[in-house]
Amino acid sequence: MTDNLNTLLPYNHKLANRSINDIQMLVIHCTELPDIKTARTYGEKVHYNSGTGNSGHYYITKQAKTYQWVENNRIAHHVKDHNSNSIGIELDNQGRYPHWHMTNQQIMHDKYPQAQIEALVTLILKLQQQIPTLKYITGHEDLDTRLIKSENDPEVYIRRKMDPGKLFPWETVMQQITLINIGSLATQVAKGSGK
Ligand SMILES: [Zn+2]
Repeated sequence: MTDNLNTLLPYNHKLANRSINDIQMLVIHCTELPDIKTARTYGEKVHYNSGTGNSGHYYITKQAKTYQWVENNRIAHHVKDHNSNSIGIELDNQGRYPHWHMTNQQIMHDKYPQAQIEALVTLILKLQQQIPTLKYITGHEDLDTRLIKSENDPEVYIRRKMDPGKLFPWETVMQQITLINIGSLATQVAKGSGK
């Protein structure tokens, strides 16, 4: 079996081009899938007429391996309305898998190992060096707040996206990088200071 985790996605070259200077923001995701191989299978799926699909630029496993699947100068489809100026970083984590949209599965139980978070910080610091226009960081859940009907109860609406979720250690990460957090952490700090 070939190890395709170390290679760009087959449609990388079909994704729209951009200048590195267009990049301003990192968006943190979790895969909400059982393992990195399944994430690759999902990433490779074609969803658009352009022959491309949905994926982040980087994937970090629980064992702290970092893979790049899309080049920085390509626009990946990873977050609604914010793709053109952002880089998507996906953390291997089960999230709500496999019942993402059931009312009784809306708590994220899968912890982020310390090694995975350290690998994330290493990647962020590297990207900050490579991309001087990079200023902001946030979570997918903070950019996509849409609600959808749950699968099991049409009366109950749930969050379409919850990643990276409450178990993601924002404070640990923010202490080690110099990007501005425009997501839930910023909101918490603002609320706290208003008291
Ligand atoms: Zn996401």
